[in-house]
Amino acid sequence: MMPSDFFFPHTVENDPAQHSKMTEIMASGVKGFYRGSDIIDERRIDPAYGAVDAYELMAPIIDTDKAMHWLMDLVESKGAHFVTETITRDLVDLEDSLLARFDADVIVNCTGLQGEVLAGDDTVYPIRGGLIRVINDGTDFPKVDAALTITADAAGSANEIVFLVPRNDNILLIGGIAEPHEWELNLTLESPIIRRMRERCERFLPGLKDARVDPDYPFAQGLRPFRGKNVRVERELRRTGSRIVHSYGQGGAGWSLSFGCAQDVAMLVEEALSGAPARPMAEMTNDWKIPKRERRRW
Ligand SMILES: Cc1cc2nc3c(=O)[nH]c(=O)nc-3n(C[C@H](O)[C@H](O)[C@H](O)COP(=O)(O)OP(=O)(O)OC[C@H]3O[C@@H](n4cnc5c(N)ncnc54)[C@H](O)[C@@H]3O)c2cc1C
Repeated sequence: MMPSDFFFPHTVENDPAQHSKMTEIMASGVKGFYRGSDIIDERRIDPAYGAVDAYELMAPIIDTDKAMHWLMDLVESKGAHFVTETITRDLVDLEDSLLARFDADVIVNCTGLQGEVLAGDDTVYPIRGGLIRVINDGTDFPKVDAALTITADAAGSANEIVFLVPRNDNILLIGGIAEPHEWELNLTLESPIIRRMRERCERFLPGLKDARVDPDYPFAQGLRPFRGKNVRVERELRRTGSRIVHSYGQGGAGWSLSFGCAQDVAMLVEEALSGAPARPMAEMTNDWKIPKRERRRW
């Protein structure tokens, strides 16, 4: 767990949306909640950037490269056999042959942006992001040991924000940007939007002017797999009796949502195996709030 600090260019009460969010966070009993503008000085934020209010809470930080290895090992230890292959058609057309070929009971589709091809979903689109990785061992600037962000209105644009996240190793991630419908992963440290990102973060936290990029891995970029309406965790509806379960479109929150989505996928797999008819996700909202043992069974 790591302190995560949120800064605001106005007192939180003056922004109804932020105030409602903070009230909800406080009521949730989240660990380590603290509200106070003294966090601005404590974290060495330049007041000239415009922060006047702040709060902090404890949040888990996932080093995703480590987590991916851990997940792979976990799945393998449960008997999974990995096959690497690209599927180029809609899963509805391939369902019977894939189930037969792998002697499988169910297909779970977690292919992110490829939901367009594999699930016939033309609402899927990317939001490109990029992060600069700098050495955060305390030698070049005072070690940053809290995640720091300021609301988008203070940063000047909803798509070009200040987002600083120390990993659990000695790397600080400097972000962030959001570029809808950009498919190419061709950003570099010299791209204008990335230079602006760095300059913005240096104005926010002046110590970063002395930061050194990680020579082994200076810059990371990726496509957040978004979807028109929302995340899709739903059984296939186009084919009666289908045993396909979809889970894609988690956008910029795939790690945060992974725990809940995985639970819902497990429930939908059970349903599919029981022979219950598939229902649209929208119709399931209320059921999903009911503890599993009390849910209606088919
Ligand atoms: C800069 C950036 C910052 C982010 N920060 C956060 C954050 O702070 N917190 C958070 O929760 N999330 C964050 N995210 C979002 C998170 O990384 C994504 O939501 C998540 O990775 C999506 O996972 P996924 O498995 O659904 O899709 P993907 O990671 O896209 O995986 C899809 C998988 O399907 C496979 N696949 C695709 N097409 C096919 C095909 N045709 N045949 C066979 N296999 C196929 C791919 O090989 C891949 O393994 C961030 C993303 C970016 C880019």
